[in-house]
Amino acid sequence: MAVKVTPACMGCQACIASCPHEALFINEDGVCQVIEDKCAECSECVGVCPVAALELATKQVDTSKELGTQNTPAEASPLENQDSQVAAQLTGDLAKYKGVWVFIEQREGEIAPVSLELLGAGRRLSDKLGVELSGVILGYKISGLEAKLYEYGADKVYLLDNPSLHYYRAETYMQVFVKLVQQYLPEIILMGATTTGRDLAGAVATELATGLTADCTVLDIDLEKRLLLATRPAFGGNIMATIVSKNHRPQMATVRPKVMKMADPVTGRQGILIKPEITLNEADMLTKVLEIVKDQGDKINLQEAEIIVAGGRGLGDKENFRKTCFSLAEAIGGKVGGSRAAVEAGWIEPKYQVGQTGVTVAPKIYFALGISGAIQHIVGIRGSDIIIAINTDPDAPIFKECTYGIVGDATQIVPSLIEPLKELFKDKKSNDVTPGKGGTRCA
Ligand code: FAD
Repeated sequence: MAVKVTPACMGCQACIASCPHEALFINEDGVCQVIEDKCAECSECVGVCPVAALELATKQVDTSKELGTQNTPAEASPLENQDSQVAAQLTGDLAKYKGVWVFIEQREGEIAPVSLELLGAGRRLSDKLGVELSGVILGYKISGLEAKLYEYGADKVYLLDNPSLHYYRAETYMQVFVKLVQQYLPEIILMGATTTGRDLAGAVATELATGLTADCTVLDIDLEKRLLLATRPAFGGNIMATIVSKNHRPQMATVRPKVMKMADPVTGRQGILIKPEITLNEADMLTKVLEIVKDQGDKINLQEAEIIVAGGRGLGDKENFRKTCFSLAEAIGGKVGGSRAAVEAGWIEPKYQVGQTGVTVAPKIYFALGISGAIQHIVGIRGSDIIIAINTDPDAPIFKECTYGIVGDATQIVPSLIEPLKELFKDKKSNDVTPGKGGTRCA
């Protein structure tokens, strides 16, 4: 091992004089080069380089062999003995961080669907990196939940079962999670952008002084640099920004429910269960949960709907909105949603707003009636299997996103579709509906 010169070197020669071992010279390309035999890794040069082009390279630590507290190994991880093919560029402490973690959110033993969706996304990332995927689950009386997590892609599950973890409390969960991170050093952590996930992710990232990208819509890996590429809408949704955390670990991201597709479970897939020992003293906790009062309100959940009929400003007024959207939804067993313009016009309540500042949906069929297809709306519907758009403007952006598009007045077209669609859907559940039943396929 020797000091490594990165492409940032501009050949200023500041390092040459600093080296007590005469191990540096400027090569014919005008950049610094290290004579490996002479370099004693004293790091004098690293400190003087004005553009931080010199790094002290250290061996990458295989932390998978250090994760010692494996209590109940069910089966050797498929990745355990596999040498990473990845040429890691990271140096120093950052290279010690290895593996992808997904925070598994559960309530009363029921795993939040977004956590399973994130296991699918995490699996893709960990496969690319050649590392293990782990689920981290905290709670009380949750033993046994690990089996489902293996089936959805986890190689390992870190499970903490403790009465103090029964209900989510930001401070308690944060402290436990941070201790786990400090002990096991994962390079990537994914959490659902739910009320709990957002709260915990922010607290954990702050405590660890690392980067967090919220509400990501795409996650990928820069394999050469071993960086998480976290893409999310920025500047009011006008651009998609890909954010990286180059100098801090772990790299953290939250993703909203329904943005990532849930992977198909592999029945009987096994993994490794780890039950870390962490002492929790209830007397030290600042907050106590006295009572849980469940919301008795409207249970309509657009995120779970299989068919959504959404209307936008193009429907003209509240009366048209109701006649068009509600009658079609009723005929085919769908739920009604709206664009922000429809919500702001008071045609439908804010909780039914679809899009960046509303809910992200992933139905089998999404009708966009009189909706232009602004990016802030589109990011909320990209998980739909089929998008059917009706719009008077043939150049409306929605036509670039939809599966089928009809150019015309939705308030005229929809009433004529209701009877035939009612007939079509009469004996069919929504999941029987297949593409290709008419309409114009969009490019
Ligand atoms: P318009 O853009 O006005 O489009 C109306 C469409 O109807 C037009 O394409 C028109 O051709 C068509 N039309 C007109 N008459 C008819 C007819 N008779 N039949 C059929 N078509 C017709 N928007 C969201 O929806 N969700 C969000 O979560 C969201 N978050 C946002 C967050 C930020 C930070 C910002 C800045 C904006 C956000 N927006 C959001 C707003 C978004 O930018 C758009 O302004 C909004 O989506 C437009 O709604 P719309 O398509 O209903 O209306």
